[in-house]
Amino acid sequence: MEEAKPTRYRILVTGEILPEGLSLLEAEPDFDVDVKVGLPRQELLRILAPYHALITRSETAIDKELLDAGANLRVIARGGVGLDNVDIDYASLKGVAVMNTPGANTIAAVEHTIGLLLALCRRIPHAHNSLRAGEWQRKKFLGTQLQGKTLGIIGLGRIGSRVATRMKAFEMHVIAYDPYVNVEKAEQLGVPLVEFEQLLRQSDIVTIHAPLTDETFHMISHREINMMKDGAMLINAARGPIVDPEALYHALTRGKLAGAAMDVFEEEPPKDRRLLELDNVVVTPHIGANTVEAQVNVAVQLARQVIAALKHGEYENSVNMPIASREEFLKLRPFLDLAERIGRMQVQTVEGRIQAVSVEYYGEIANYVKPLTVAVLKGLLAPILREKVNYINAPYIADERRIRVSQTRTFEPEDYTNLMRVHVRTDKQKQTVAGTLLGRSIPRIVEIDGYGLDVEPEGRFLIIKNYDRPGVIGKVGTILGNANVNIAEWRLGRLRPNDLALAVVKVDDPVPPEVIRQIEAVEQVVQVVPFEL
Ligand code: NAD
Repeated sequence: MEEAKPTRYRILVTGEILPEGLSLLEAEPDFDVDVKVGLPRQELLRILAPYHALITRSETAIDKELLDAGANLRVIARGGVGLDNVDIDYASLKGVAVMNTPGANTIAAVEHTIGLLLALCRRIPHAHNSLRAGEWQRKKFLGTQLQGKTLGIIGLGRIGSRVATRMKAFEMHVIAYDPYVNVEKAEQLGVPLVEFEQLLRQSDIVTIHAPLTDETFHMISHREINMMKDGAMLINAARGPIVDPEALYHALTRGKLAGAAMDVFEEEPPKDRRLLELDNVVVTPHIGANTVEAQVNVAVQLARQVIAALKHGEYENSVNMPIASREEFLKLRPFLDLAERIGRMQVQTVEGRIQAVSVEYYGEIANYVKPLTVAVLKGLLAPILREKVNYINAPYIADERRIRVSQTRTFEPEDYTNLMRVHVRTDKQKQTVAGTLLGRSIPRIVEIDGYGLDVEPEGRFLIIKNYDRPGVIGKVGTILGNANVNIAEWRLGRLRPNDLALAVVKVDDPVPPEVIRQIEAVEQVVQVVPFEL
């Protein structure tokens, strides 16, 4: 149910927005723009009702109170990436798009990384300080050259890929580790993708441009530093906790690493100053994004996004999904949840880089193809990306990552009243997972790769592929039992007796990798893949 479009749009600006952005808004003939920078919150709540868009500071809490006060609000936009103090669910419920501007500071971060790299290799800050202190020391500041050296990039996204192209101009040999990046993209950049260990062993300088996730937390610690070349250097302008500061401190003091440069820290500002005070480090206080141009970009991007959202219903960089009405949102919620769970399951269980996703819809849910496909993408992408992947931005991100997305729909129900079947193709395999809602609200996975099953998609699981012979279940059960892992459910799918069978085993406890290896070693077991929902 679409509301009628207003003939004029009222925009309220209470956050700093540079003239480059403001002028774009003011140039729209059907926009009335009021600028009231720094408006106190109470005042904002009082006057908000007639406005369609609010451009605000990141300090302004976007909470129930504010969303209720904005009776006509369609868009709230703010610069930067900070999303703390935004009640995203409530905004979605109210159909208000909340937008930010990730990517506006990419170049700033890229150039700062390169600045750190050069400063470290030529010891520029130290030489500067020495000269200012009245010295004229030339021999002391013997640097290292970049030409001919190997630069290892961890995370070949927006920033990493641009660092790569720029450092190639320095005639560095650039390699990258990124388990999720599209291979074609890396090929186009001319950057060989290597395994993590290979990157560590081969690089003279390692630079990190991955997001902070469970997987990247302390991804550089003692073990990884030990694999690095003696005298290598490390740059971190991504997120502090990706590097274990104890391990780095140790490596820098014992001479394993020649130097490190950091713009980010595990704790900001850092209380433990030991690392900062070492002679072989270059540090800056998280200023990677601070340039005049990045701020202009933020302003221009904000203005463009607000215009596109109000006038054309395009919601790039929206952190939520504006659904036409509360009723529609409530109706779709269980389907969206099912779709997202299927996506989350697939990203954990397929091998390789995702290249294509296609979804078949049967029955009534065929009416909601667009948001549901987006929910599948959200589930597929969210675990591997820095930014908040949501219903609005997921298609943009998939497109940027060159994942081909398609869907078909059939209003006639198949075996279930409603069914969605998701096919994921990677560079290594194909996988199909189908799901339904029992009684319109209870999610079930009913098919994996052609095997019929009935799995409630919540909890920890193992997918076990094995030849269907007597005794396999017993052996697997014993291994899990010995490892103190309790089996909650065992759902078996068979195509034919004695052929390859597929089981989805729900477990109460995490299954350590060595236990998975033990199960894989059981004769007749072909593959074991864990996942968690
Ligand atoms: P992005 O999302 O465009 O790229 C991140 C890349 O990392 C993706 O290609 C992803 O596939 C990859 N990745 C995910 N998990 C990985 C893993 N386990 N190992 C290796 N690669 C992995 O993000 P971006 O805009 O390029 O930002 C990169 C980093 O820079 C982020 O951590 C961001 O927070 C940080 N950043 C810092 C500043 C600053 O002020 N210093 C400014 C902007 C961004």
